[in-house]
Amino acid sequence: MPVKENLGALRVRVTSAANAAGRKPEAIRLIAVCKQVEAANIEAAIAAGCAVFAENYVQEAKAKWTGLRARHTGLELQLIGHLQSNKAGDAVALFDCIATLDRPKLAHTLSAEMQKQKKRVALLIEVNIGDEPQKSGCGIDDVPALLKLARGELNLPVEGLMCVPPAAADPAPYFRKLAQLGKDYSLPRLSMGMSADFESAIAAGATDVRIGSALFGERVR
Ligand SMILES: *Cc1c(COP(=O)(O)O)cnc(C)c1O
Repeated sequence: MPVKENLGALRVRVTSAANAAGRKPEAIRLIAVCKQVEAANIEAAIAAGCAVFAENYVQEAKAKWTGLRARHTGLELQLIGHLQSNKAGDAVALFDCIATLDRPKLAHTLSAEMQKQKKRVALLIEVNIGDEPQKSGCGIDDVPALLKLARGELNLPVEGLMCVPPAAADPAPYFRKLAQLGKDYSLPRLSMGMSADFESAIAAGATDVRIGSALFGERVR
């Protein structure tokens, strides 16, 4: 699997999308999404220069990254999948950033775990930007209250917002909506855009694009 070539092509595309939007390419981080990707392929991505990785499941991440972390320093690992409160301890121990804070109970649990482990983990609020009933994520109208609790009362390091727009629709209006929310609440980091739509996300202001299949190849499941 030509991870190195894929990464090179992706960097070119990120740069041209940034230039087209009048933005600095360095302002956009390419995050390698490695759900279902074996450690050997992750090693290839590390060798090719990837430094930021994301996983969807705590258990899968723990199994793969305990060894990877021991072999490589200076990497950043993010959680981009739904987090159950009972896995919050493992998540705080393993990740540098949790991008799926979406409810008050989880904010309280993460706060307690960070204190217990004496570790600060950057947080993004996941917003259910298309208001889809089957999706996790905080409702748009609930963002102010969650932010007040997490940043204001619990003093958690909330740095930005994350979203996955509805699958069937043009994502651009949803990306713009998340960017507006980020402006409204002074949250500079915007994690949005995946393999199929990251250029559109960059045009709307994405700072973190999450790329899986375009880097590692199509997933089998
Ligand atoms: C799988 C996944 C991605 C990457 O998707 P690709 O289409 O493979 O690039 C990004 N974000 C989230 C939340 C995902 O679950």
